[in-house]
Parts: sequence; structure tokens; C-alpha cells
Amino acid sequence: MQQLAIQGGKPCRNTSSHPWPKWPAWGKEEEKALVEVLNSGVWSYNGPKETEFNRLFAEFTGVKYSICTVNGTLTMQLALEAMGIGLGDEVIVPGLTWQATAATVLDVNATPILVDVLEDTWCIDPAAIEKAITPRTKAVIPVHLYGAFSDMDAVMEIAEKHELYVIEDCAHKHGGEWRGKKAGSIGDVGSFSFQLSKHLTAGEGGAMTTDNPDLAEKLDALRNCGRRPEGDSLIGADKGIGDYGDEGNFIQSGNLRITEFQAAILVEGLKRMPEQNAVREANGTYLNGLFEKIPGVSPLQRDARETKKAYFNFAFRYNKKEFKDLPVDRFRSALEAELDIMIDACYEPLNMCPLYVPHTKPARHKLNESYWNAIDPSRFSLPVCERIFKEESVCIHHKVLLGNRGDMDLIAAAIKKIYDSAENLM
Ligand SMILES: *Cc1c(COP(=O)(O)O)cnc(C)c1O
Repeated sequence: MQQLAIQGGKPCRNTSSHPWPKWPAWGKEEEKALVEVLNSGVWSYNGPKETEFNRLFAEFTGVKYSICTVNGTLTMQLALEAMGIGLGDEVIVPGLTWQATAATVLDVNATPILVDVLEDTWCIDPAAIEKAITPRTKAVIPVHLYGAFSDMDAVMEIAEKHELYVIEDCAHKHGGEWRGKKAGSIGDVGSFSFQLSKHLTAGEGGAMTTDNPDLAEKLDALRNCGRRPEGDSLIGADKGIGDYGDEGNFIQSGNLRITEFQAAILVEGLKRMPEQNAVREANGTYLNGLFEKIPGVSPLQRDARETKKAYFNFAFRYNKKEFKDLPVDRFRSALEAELDIMIDACYEPLNMCPLYVPHTKPARHKLNESYWNAIDPSRFSLPVCERIFKEESVCIHHKVLLGNRGDMDLIAAAIKKIYDSAENLM
């Protein structure tokens, strides 16, 4: 039995001699594009880089329209606003997601309804959506979490039956595919993030994708102080859009524009991403295969309808019974020491998340007594989310998936080493 790194043994990976692949990844192309923007003096306002990225990202995603905005949070808020969702309306959201998915519902004065997820994909449970529907339900926001995909066949069927809008939270699913359709092209609006942790990034940024010209027009206006789409800034704007009888603003909003510097980086990043996604997919599949030989760890289930993977973090399930009852947080610390990279739990379930606390802001959210009670996160029961978070989840930064086969072997070896020595950690 080898001594574990957390107990002073030699780590599986020596990161001073073998650093993990770096993220973000960039090259001369980004440098050149940034200098080009700098020297052009056109640093914002629907510039050529933003227009180009909108066109490329719409094409890549397989939709008519892509509209950039400041991040993958406001994307969802603007989608809700464009759909006319607000006070008195309910929006169904999975309990296991980044807080923004629910917080944006609050920020349009609607009521987030938290529902449970499926234990094998960690994505929204379609049966739980059905159960949560009321006459007030207006939309559902499925989240494509980590390496998994929401069951979009089931979500779309429910949405059609009950006439609900669907906003896909694809904040970290750029390039993933469900039955040959890209994430963000299945629901009414796709919401993407380009924040630093994501696998297409400009430091910050976001995009909204849609095929619906009415929504596109409103989304474009909402990120640009309510102005009507200008000239050819709205890509695909050929069917009546931009063709107005009268001038001026047509919707209340503010400034949520991105800069040309961000758009320039995104144009280059989008060129690199398909190849990076392919490397991450191949490594993820290989690593998941190695898990079959180690008791107590299992991959998130890959649905056969998921035709292309887009790994964000590499997440897997841990079963402490197989590890002599070693609690998952001890396992994560031990793995962190072996691999010298941060090993996280999944997002905190939103009924116990320290960053999802609507009651800390009464001046903003206490619209009336019944609304105040309705937005209390602790009223929702999310047993599967809680079990995943407290007992099962292990997440590693996606940059490890840009490594080689040897790197994947090493991750598996580190897990096996902990498995073999689990009793020493008790
Ligand atoms: C990152 C993320 C967001 C928020 O995106 P930002 O650009 O950070 O605002 C929303 N939802 C999910 C699932 C995310 O992972």
C-alpha cells in the first residue's frame, strides 16, 4: 500500500514538473485581434467584431439569431423580460444549478419554483416539472449541467402541452448536441456564459440564441438601453426587423453591452473550441471507461441521444460504501493532494445555498407578504439534489480534459490509490 499524499506520501502528480494544461488557452491570434480593436478606436457599440461573433455563433449553434450581452446571468433575465414574464408568474428551475438560474427569476419579480433532478444525470427531472406546473407557470429553465444534458425531448413535450416557454441554461454547454441539435437551439432561447471558468471565454460575457424574430428583436433592444435594433447589428434581421415606421426607443432597459475587446477574443475562441471540445470528449469518454475498473466511482450517465459532448467540469459520482465509508469530503481532499488541483463538490442545492438568499433583500423582493413566502428557498424539498451535493459529487476543472491519455490514467490511478488506502484515512 502506498502512502497517500494527504498523509505526507508522494503525490501521483508532480505539478511543478508536469503542470496541468492551462486555462484559458490563447495564442497570437488573440493578441493580434486585440491590438486591431485597440487601434481601430471602435471599442463598443455594435462594432464589427461583435457583429461577426453574433453571426458566427448563430451559425455554430444552428439558430437565426445570437445576441451578446454582459454575462450568462443577465441573458436569462433578458430572456424572461422578452417573454413578458414577471409578477404573478412562476418559473420552474432545477434545484441543482448555479444560483443565477433562480436569481434571475427573482429579478423580474416572478417566482422561482425549485424542483429536483435525476440522480444519474444531475439534470432537471421531467416528472418533477409536471408535478410543479400550476396555472401560473410560464416557463421552465432546464440546465445542461457539467458533462450531462437535460432530457430535452421530455422537457419540450411538457412545455408544448402546457404552453410554457423554455430557456435553456447552456452557460457551460457551448457545442453540446442533443439528437444532432446544438445546446441553445432547442428551447425558445439559449443562454450562454463566456465568463472565465467556461470553455468559451472572454473573461466575462454572454449570448442569447433564438430562432424567434420577436424575441430576438426584444433581446437586442434590452441589452442596448431599449433601442430598436440598428442597421445590420441584429444578424438574420431580414424579415421585418429593423423596419420601423417611427423612430425611437420601444422598451425600457439599460446598458448591458459587451466591448469589442471581448468580441474579438470570442471570435478567436470559437475557432479553437470545436477541437478542444473533441479532445475533452475523447478524454472524458476514456476516463469514464477507466472508472469501470474502480469500485465506488461512476460517471454521469450519457444519454444515447446526446450526440456530442461539451464537458464543462469533469464530474463523477462517489459511493462511500465502496470506500469503507470514507466521507466524500475526505475523498475530495485526498484526491486534491494526489493531483494538486482543486477538487470541488457540485453546486449547492438552491434550498440551502448561501448565495441564493432572497430574504436578505426585502427592499427589492418583498413585493407583498405572499410573494415573500413564495420565494423562501427552504420551502422546497430537493432530496436528490441534497444527496448528490452532500454524499456523491466530485468535480474537477475541465482543463484536465485537455491533457493526454497519460493524464487520464493518472487521475484514475490516484482514485485507485485512495481506494486501496481508504481505511488509513478514517
Ligand atoms: C456560469 C453559469 C451561469 C452564470 O453565468 P455568468 O456569466 O457567470 O453570469 C449560469 N448558469 C450556469 C449553469 C452556469 O454554470
